[in-house]
Amino acid sequence: MDRVPALVAFGRALRLRCPHCGGGPIFLRWSRLVPSCPVCGLGLERGEQGYWLGAYFFNLMAVETLFTGWVVGFLAWTWPSPPWDLFQIGTVVLMLISPFAFFPFSKTLFLAFYLQVRPHTEEDFIAPHEEARRHPRGPRR
Ligand SMILES: [Zn+2]
Repeated sequence: MDRVPALVAFGRALRLRCPHCGGGPIFLRWSRLVPSCPVCGLGLERGEQGYWLGAYFFNLMAVETLFTGWVVGFLAWTWPSPPWDLFQIGTVVLMLISPFAFFPFSKTLFLAFYLQVRPHTEEDFIAPHEEARRHPRGPRR
């Protein structure tokens, strides 16, 4: 199978689309990925041991980069008398919000990276995921 060029795959990942085909949507909620791509059927929940550790690593790297940019930018902008109270509050708020804000991007970006390192095989494709349709009056039991 053909490998998707890295820039294309990462561009699709940044738009929260399937890195392989660009299809979507692949998120049910901000933090909930569908099991497989609705268009090409690529398995998105790999189930391999330690797989999502890579996504968490991508998230950590993004948050640390943001933190570094915040510290350097804030101090460069306000030097020689930085408002330390604003700096403290801003740092806490930024560090609480940014891991959640970047979470889905870390999953799709790591998947794009993973597909570059270990190209997909036929076994990675399962039947395209169809979102469960709900009955307007709730599920039948
Ligand atoms: Zn796809």
